[in-house]
Amino acid sequence: MPKLVWLNGSIVKADQAVVSVYDHGLLYGDGVFEGIRTYRGRIFKLATHLRRLEESACALRLELPYDREALSAATREIVEANDCGDGYVRLCVTRGRGTLGLNPFLCKEASTFIIADNITLYPDDLYRDGLSVITSSIIRNHPQALSPRIKSMNYLNNILAKIEAIDAGVLEAIMFNHQGNVAECTGDNLFIVRERAGAPVIYTPPLHAGILEGVTMNVVLDLAREAGIEVVRTDLTRHDLYTADEMFLTGTAAEIIPVTTVDGRTIGAGRPGAVTARLISAFRDLIAQNAPED
Ligand code: PMP
Repeated sequence: MPKLVWLNGSIVKADQAVVSVYDHGLLYGDGVFEGIRTYRGRIFKLATHLRRLEESACALRLELPYDREALSAATREIVEANDCGDGYVRLCVTRGRGTLGLNPFLCKEASTFIIADNITLYPDDLYRDGLSVITSSIIRNHPQALSPRIKSMNYLNNILAKIEAIDAGVLEAIMFNHQGNVAECTGDNLFIVRERAGAPVIYTPPLHAGILEGVTMNVVLDLAREAGIEVVRTDLTRHDLYTADEMFLTGTAAEIIPVTTVDGRTIGAGRPGAVTARLISAFRDLIAQNAPED
């Protein structure tokens, strides 16, 4: 059965779900989006994603045409229409149809569409064996330019880093910020683990490093604290990456994926570490228990 898409209040077939070539989402990347997982039909962290969408829209002075309740109902409607038990939702709001000039306020009405489909970011064996990554020469957007806190439709910065990774024969790249500290990967947040005074400590960059505040990142930080593992948010350098005992990435599509080499340096013992395995297991338990929607 062809997929259905929620488009500006109607449900249409995917091949009929089209936006104008005058839409500023297409012409200028002027729009915001969320990527959301569904587990057994439950829309994981839906409320949190909608809050972030509102924050992204606020930062861009983009008026969302639907409130949180309406977007929540629309997401549920399209997930059910596509029978999307374990799947992936892409909720997008573009600035809408305008003129060929930049002025966003000449776009009369934002365009909203919700796709409910599947996504596989990395092959299964990498979750068992770990991912190889490089560090990218492309830095993450300067926070005083397009803030990485905004989940906008302009991903060119990250796409350039992704191309660098693919050219180097790996699937992911770590991006630094304008100060030379670690920011995040092209579509995932980054964590390292180091042993300190006999106990593992999880380190991850602070929001002011210029990163997206990942929904999965916050879930994982909560799980780590519940497991009694210390978490420190601090600036990290390339040296910290190379000498980490463990490393893993988090994201809605990726969930939690271990990293075992960075720029050809082996991380820890060259296989996913104990803390990473423990968090993956805690994450799976959370999903299996109730996959909370808030
Ligand atoms: N950083 C970037 C740049 C992302 O695009 C994403 C989402 N793919 C993440 C981090 C992870 O965020 P979340 O856990 O909310 O999906």
